[in-house]
Amino acid sequence: MADCLFCKIVNREIPGSIVYEDDGVLAFNDINPQAPTHVLIIPKRHIESLNALEPDDDRLVGELVRRAAAIAKERGFAAGGFRTVFNTNRDAGQTVLHIHLHLLGGRSLSWPPG
Ligand code: AMP
Ligand code: ZN
Repeated sequence: MADCLFCKIVNREIPGSIVYEDDGVLAFNDINPQAPTHVLIIPKRHIESLNALEPDDDRLVGELVRRAAAIAKERGFAAGGFRTVFNTNRDAGQTVLHIHLHLLGGRSLSWPPG
């Protein structure tokens, strides 16, 4: 998608601090980190939000979630705990309309969120 910030990171049109990549998934550091680890895990294919997911995307969504857990494990905070968040649309504060799973970890996180 031509105007999508995260598609541009996938296509190397703008730089990203990439921490993981495979055929379908990219993970990179959030530019404005809210925790010692704040990684965004995205499908390489442009999908706007959870509202646009189709049954055929189930495997891809599972890969995003399992990648988050794998990064948490690699970094040593899986057992202690971490947070994963998909913001969807305006009321949740989704600012980039390309599905991204936030992985936050490395500190104690409060709940409920704002
Ligand atoms: P959301 O508010 O859920 O849509 O999250 C979008 C996230 O993208 C925010 O946490 C931003 O800090 C992050 N972000 C925006 N631009 C970039 C960028 N160029 N590289 C990495 N992260 C970005
Ligand atoms: Zn996109």
